[in-house]
Amino acid sequence: MFDTLSDRLTSVLQNLRSKGKLTEADIDATAREIRVALLEADVALPVVRSFIGQVKERAKGAEVSQALNPAQQVIKIVNDELVGILGGESRRLNLAKNPPSVIMLAGLQGSGKTTLAGKLAMHLKGKGHTPLLVACDLQRPNAVTQLQVVGERAGVPVFAPEEGNGVGDPVDVARRGVDEARGAQHDIVIVDTAGRLGVDEEMMRQASDIRDAVQPDETLFVVDAMTGQDAVTTAEAFRDGVGFSGVVLTKLDGDARGGAALSVREVTGQPILYASNGEKLADFDAFHPDRMASRILGMGDMLTLIEQAEQAFDQEQAEQTAAKIGTGELTLEDFLEQMLSVRKMGPIGNLLGMLPGGGQMKEQLADFDDSHLDRLQAIIRGMTPAERANPKIINASRRLRIANGSGVAVRDVNDLVNRFFEARKMMAQMAGSFGFGGGAGGSK
Ligand code: GDP
Repeated sequence: MFDTLSDRLTSVLQNLRSKGKLTEADIDATAREIRVALLEADVALPVVRSFIGQVKERAKGAEVSQALNPAQQVIKIVNDELVGILGGESRRLNLAKNPPSVIMLAGLQGSGKTTLAGKLAMHLKGKGHTPLLVACDLQRPNAVTQLQVVGERAGVPVFAPEEGNGVGDPVDVARRGVDEARGAQHDIVIVDTAGRLGVDEEMMRQASDIRDAVQPDETLFVVDAMTGQDAVTTAEAFRDGVGFSGVVLTKLDGDARGGAALSVREVTGQPILYASNGEKLADFDAFHPDRMASRILGMGDMLTLIEQAEQAFDQEQAEQTAAKIGTGELTLEDFLEQMLSVRKMGPIGNLLGMLPGGGQMKEQLADFDDSHLDRLQAIIRGMTPAERANPKIINASRRLRIANGSGVAVRDVNDLVNRFFEARKMMAQMAGSFGFGGGAGGSK
């Protein structure tokens, strides 16, 4: 996501870095290039205008002329303004004082509402809530079944009309769904509504009727980030037709130019609460304007990476491993566990993309194939516990057995074992020089 925009902005700002003093002409030229980059990324024109206006005004002011490093200061301004158009502070979900809180989802058909309902439910469940999903999309064939499927995956119950797909009164289902939540002690109700392929009065009326019936604490407008300028038009139509209190961007994993993300907040005045970036339930995050801005500017998104790591890694296990690294006692079993933890965080390419400069490694990343890790895992799994604990005993006949058992060549097993020994030695030396993990400083 934002690939082209990010590349363009990074290189514009990179050019700036090489300059000591900045003239007005430098600032104008930079502003022009940023303008083109934003327009090419499909950012709405009024948003581009006000963004460039702000950047120019500040860049020509005292904060830059008096800065020790003017170029750095301009980069900071661009970052600040980007955070600003993305909404400034991140905003959390507004929940009712007296549960259940009602969250209604609205948006066009195909925008990702039903998928999002499952993602949001799983996210909230992970935070200790007890959500109930309510299937009010009685328009699209199979929408009810689809919600039941995502509900099951998320481990969250679904309230659906007895008749199943395509029949019944959505307003009545919404009302009964909220009653059900109250009776069954669900603290949050997520109402999935029907969309159409385009903005249409009947859809708006139905969504408004549901809204009036259930009085949502949040109405989230779900918008496909890949729809470019249309996203803004649709957002305006929903704002006027139904009204909403927050935005969810979906499909940020696509090769979207990202303009929707950068325009919707500014155009509608409502904050972006969540971002969805894949078809799996876990491909979902709270939206943080500051992190998104630094990601767009190629400064990485270390905070998200750290949060994902915290969720994926078992702290105690990580500490034990660190201690073993220091004393050179790391085993292949530890290695396998670490590898599995890293993989829980998602495809390796996505992870590297969050590192500073990671965006620029995209070409190499495009070739990175997680199947390499699959092969390593298969080889280690083909070993006996004794072999994993003490790889030194893996002699030629054992290597042949492991290769046959895991469907690889003996060469691959040799490669893994040799690299493991080298890595273990190197890690122990590094741990020794950084003074952590027992620091024996050599392999055994
Ligand atoms: P609805 O009509 O608004 O309920 O949309 P759906 O939830 O059925 O989603 C439409 C299509 O988009 C489905 O094929 C989803 O798998 C897909 N989809 C939803 N969210 C995302 C996302 O964040 N990334 C990608 N790549 N696909 C998504």
